[in-house]
Amino acid sequence: MARPSSASSSPVVPKLKEYIFTDKLGSGTYATVYKAYKKTGKRDVVAIKCVLKTSLNKPATENLLTEIELLKKLKHDNIVELKDFLWDEKYIYLIMEYCSGGDLSHFIRSRRTLPERIVKRFLQQIAQAMMYLWSFKVAHMDLKPQNILLTSSTNPTIKIADFGFAKHLFEGDDLHIMRGSPLYMAPEIICQTAYDARVDLWSIGVILYECLFGKAPFASESFKELSVKLRDSRPVQLPYGVEISDEARDLILRLLKRNPDERISFDEFFLHPFVDLDHVPSKDSLPKAIKIVTEAVEKDEKGDFKKAVKLYCSALEYFMSAIQYETNPRKKDALRRKVQEYMDRAEFLRTQMKPCKPSDSVSRSLSMNSYEELVDLCQDRDELLAALKLIKAAEIEAEKEEYSQALKHYELALGVFIKTLPEEPKGRRKDLLNMEVTKWMAKAENIKSYLSVRVINTEDTSQSVDDGENLGSCSIQ
Ligand code: ADP
Ligand code: MG
Repeated sequence: MARPSSASSSPVVPKLKEYIFTDKLGSGTYATVYKAYKKTGKRDVVAIKCVLKTSLNKPATENLLTEIELLKKLKHDNIVELKDFLWDEKYIYLIMEYCSGGDLSHFIRSRRTLPERIVKRFLQQIAQAMMYLWSFKVAHMDLKPQNILLTSSTNPTIKIADFGFAKHLFEGDDLHIMRGSPLYMAPEIICQTAYDARVDLWSIGVILYECLFGKAPFASESFKELSVKLRDSRPVQLPYGVEISDEARDLILRLLKRNPDERISFDEFFLHPFVDLDHVPSKDSLPKAIKIVTEAVEKDEKGDFKKAVKLYCSALEYFMSAIQYETNPRKKDALRRKVQEYMDRAEFLRTQMKPCKPSDSVSRSLSMNSYEELVDLCQDRDELLAALKLIKAAEIEAEKEEYSQALKHYELALGVFIKTLPEEPKGRRKDLLNMEVTKWMAKAENIKSYLSVRVINTEDTSQSVDDGENLGSCSIQ
C-alpha cells in the first residue's frame, strides 16, 4: 500500500485565513478532517480535509490529485461535494460539504446492526452513486463504511467520500497495484491477479453484510488470517439465525462471489430487486402511484378484484416512496391518510381472495370420497400413493393457511400425476385421476395467485431511522 503515515500524528492544527476550525471529524490514512465554518457571510459549516504536504510521497500525491480532479467533476446527490481546494506552505486543503451524521462505520457500531429497510435505503443511494460513477467510467476502489458519510443522524442521505484511490477505467483496463482496505478488498486484488471496477461490487457486498450482521464476513485478527480467508475457495455463507429477505440474501451472495466473472455484473446489480431502483423516492413516485391507483379503482369498480388488488399493491409501493420524498409535513400527513384508505381496501379485497374459504368444506368432503377411492385404486403403485399423500398434506396445509407449503406439495404431486397420466390404462382410476387432477390444479392456481399478492410490512422510512412508523403495504412477488 502506497499511503504514507497518518497526518493525525502532527500536533499542529491547520489554519486557514477564512475559516475557524472546530472539531476533528476523523483521520484516515493520510489526512485529517476538521469541521470548520467560514468567518464571514453565512458562516457555512464545512468539512476540511487537510493533508500535510511533507507526508506526501509520489504515489500519495498522485492519489490526492486524482481525488481533487475527480471530485471537481463529480456532482451527484450521493457523492460528497468538493466546494474548493486551497493550499499553503504546509497543507493542502479540500473544502467539502459537511456531513453531520458521521461515517457509516460509526453509524453501524453505535447500533450493532441495521434493519433491512434502512440498509436497502442506503444501498439504493450507493447504487445511484455507482451508476453515476459508472457513466464516467470511474471506479472508487476503496468503498468501505469509513468512506461512506451520512448527512445527518436522523433520516440520513448517503454521500460517498474519499476518492483517493479512485481510477478512471477505460475499456479493457486491468489494474495490478494493491488499492483499498484489506477487509473490504476483493479476493482478486489479494491474489495478485488483474482486476477491474468489479472490485467495487465485492466491497458493496462486504458493506451490506456488515450492515445486516454487524461484522464484516472476513473479520480477522491479522492481515495473514484475512488473506487466508479471502483465498479460500468455498462459497461465502451468511450467518444463521438472522432473518433477511430472499432478495437481500440473493444480492449479497452474488456480490460476494470470489471469482469476478461469476460475480453479479454492474448492469444486473442496478436491476436487482433488492436494489429496486424503480422505487427510489423521487419526484416521479407520486405521479406513478396516482396513475396505477386510478387503474386499480377502475378495475375495482368493474368488479375485477383480482387485478384491482394487484394494482393497489403496486401503487402502494410508489406511494410509500412518494411519502418519503415529500418534505412538507402537512402534505406528507395528507398523503399518508389517503394511502391508508387504499391500503385498507386492498387488504379487504385480499381477504376475499383467500383460497380456502369455509364454503369449500362441503366440496372438500365430496372430494375426500374420491380421494379414498383413489388411494384404494393405487395400492399397487407406490409412486402414485406417495403423490396422493402429498395432496392430502397440501389440503391440510391450505386449510391451516400455510399456503406456500401447500403450493409446494400440490406442485410436487401434480408433477407426478401429469407425468404418469398419459400412460395410465383406460378405466376408473384414469377417469378419477383426470377429474381430481383438474381440481387440484385449479386449487394450486388459486393459491399461487393469492400468494402473488403478499402483504408485507413496509415501514415508512421517511421517519427517523430509529423510530420509523409502521405502515403496512402490499407487494407483488
Ligand atoms: P482518508 O483519505 O485519510 O481516509 P477521508 O476522506 O476518508 O480521509 O476522511 C477520513 C474520515 O473523516 C472519514 O472516515 C470520516 O469519518 C471523516 N470525514 C471525512 N469527510 C467528512 C465530511 N465531509 N463530513 C464529515 N466527516 C467527514
Ligand atoms: Mg478514508
